[in-house]
Amino acid sequence: MSSSCLCDQCSALCCRYFVLEIDTPQTRRQYDDIRWYLVHQNVFVFIEKRKWYLGVYSRCKHLQADNRCGIYETRPKICREYSTDNCDYHGGEYDWQVLFSSAEQLAAYAEEALAERALKRLKERRRQEREKARTPQLTLVKKPPRPAATRRRLPKLRPGLMLGPALAVGPNGNGNGHGNGQAHGNARRPASLRSLPVLPR
Ligand code: SF4
Ligand code: SF4
Repeated sequence: MSSSCLCDQCSALCCRYFVLEIDTPQTRRQYDDIRWYLVHQNVFVFIEKRKWYLGVYSRCKHLQADNRCGIYETRPKICREYSTDNCDYHGGEYDWQVLFSSAEQLAAYAEEALAERALKRLKERRRQEREKARTPQLTLVKKPPRPAATRRRLPKLRPGLMLGPALAVGPNGNGNGHGNGQAHGNARRPASLRSLPVLPR
């Protein structure tokens, strides 16, 4: 009896591993973390279209002896969405650019990539220095401080002078009667009264 389903001819290749996208390593430490994945059994890492992936060969617990799914009705969404259009059996292997199946392969790749990255950074720094040397440098001239505003000094007014002639005189006027030019009582009058003109008799 011939089968119309491709899966019937396959040994369930897609149920024997899983793959996760991982961050692209940039530093020695990040490469070393990926090296750590690879020291474990059944692990592989690959780069496809500049993205990094971690793969683990691990048979699904629900794959039955006849290569059929044991939880077909309740299988995870990712299994439901998978189609034979471009699957492992039909479409062949992943389209990876680099595949690491051992920690040593990754370490060798990391050394090269880090050296290349360091060289790129050095070239960029030198380019920036050349650019800076070509650009005329603007020297900031500090504005001289403004001279402090000259404050007009007002003559110091003494109480005796503020009283006006009629109050500053001695016993004949409105002074304090001691002829010492000092006033009492009147000196505390408001300034508006103190400045009244003295009218001629
Ligand atoms: S989807 Fe493809 S790889 Fe998975 S079982 Fe079917 S034929 Fe095999
Ligand atoms: S749940 Fe079923 S379809 Fe999904 S991986 Fe397991 S056996 Fe395959």
